[in-house]
Formats: sequence, C-alpha cells, structure tokens
Amino acid sequence: MRCQEASSAMSLKMDQRLSESEERELTEHLASCPACAEEQARYIGIESLFADARWLPVPGGFSQHVMRRIHQRRTRLAVLRGFLAVVIFGLVAVGTLALLTSLLNPVFQQLVRYPFFAWLVTTGEGIAAVLRTVVYALRLVLSTVLNSLTPYVVGYLALAALLLLAWTRTVVLSRRSSGMILQNNSR
Ligand SMILES: [Zn+2]
Repeated sequence: MRCQEASSAMSLKMDQRLSESEERELTEHLASCPACAEEQARYIGIESLFADARWLPVPGGFSQHVMRRIHQRRTRLAVLRGFLAVVIFGLVAVGTLALLTSLLNPVFQQLVRYPFFAWLVTTGEGIAAVLRTVVYALRLVLSTVLNSLTPYVVGYLALAALLLLAWTRTVVLSRRSSGMILQNNSR
C-alpha cells in the first residue's frame, strides 16, 4: 500500500467502510510509515473532538426547508441558464449567419447550374432575402458602431463573455447542487 492509498483508507476506516483485508494492509503500512502514522493520529484526535459532542435535535421542518431552498435555487438557476442560453445562441447565430453568407456564396453560384438546386434556391430565395437583409442591417449597425464608438464593441464583447461566464457558472452550480442531493440520498 502506498501513502496515497493509505490516506484514503484512513478516511474510509473512519466511516467504517474498510474491508478486513484493507484494514490489515493499512495497519501494516502505518507500522512502517511514520508520516502516515502521524496523519492517522491527527485523524483520531479530530474524531475524539466530536466523540463527546451531543446530537442536537433538528428543528421541525428543517429538512423540508433545506430541500425547498435547494429546489428554489435550482429553479432560479434553470431559468437563468435558459435565458443565457437563448442570448448566447442569438449571438452565435448572428455571427455564424454572417460568416456562412459570405463563405457559401461561391458554392451557391456553382450549384445553381443544376435544375434541382436552382429550384431549391428559388424556393429559398424569399428566406435568403430576409436573412440577407438582416445580415446587411446588422453589418450596417456594426460598421457604424465600429466607425464611431469602439468602446461599444468592446462592451458588447465583454457582455458576451460575461454572459458566457455566468452561464458556465449556473451549469457548474446546478451540477454541484444535484451532486449534493445525490450524496445526501445515498446516506
Ligand atoms: Zn505512508
């Protein structure tokens, strides 16, 4: 047994979750390793601090209150996450659309020679026109902003970055709180 394994075996032992053979291995390691033996002594010291502590009765409705708070928090996080996802999706969609329009234009020029694609293009012409108008309008707004006020562009990027950060945080937080619930249930 190595020191790292011994360390986790020690905490498992405190929870009485160590098999007989594992406990034997731990005892052997502790006998030959002063560093781990010292760690074990520290563990026992901490445990004895709590040995005399009395169990206090939990106030009525405590667990319901805790679960309600967790639920409220998760709901809030879910709403916030949904909102941020929509905003981020919008930002990404606008950027992608602008990029695709310029990239795919030559490809369209080639495909239009085939009747089927010509038909497809004609059908999609209306939508494409709308999209082109949107992209054009956005480009106009962007170029105006770029030409006049660079701080706004920086602000826009900072806002996008902030939103992305906040979104990531909500994901992490909700993972953590569901992890907590799992842990509590498994006890
Ligand atoms: Zn050791």
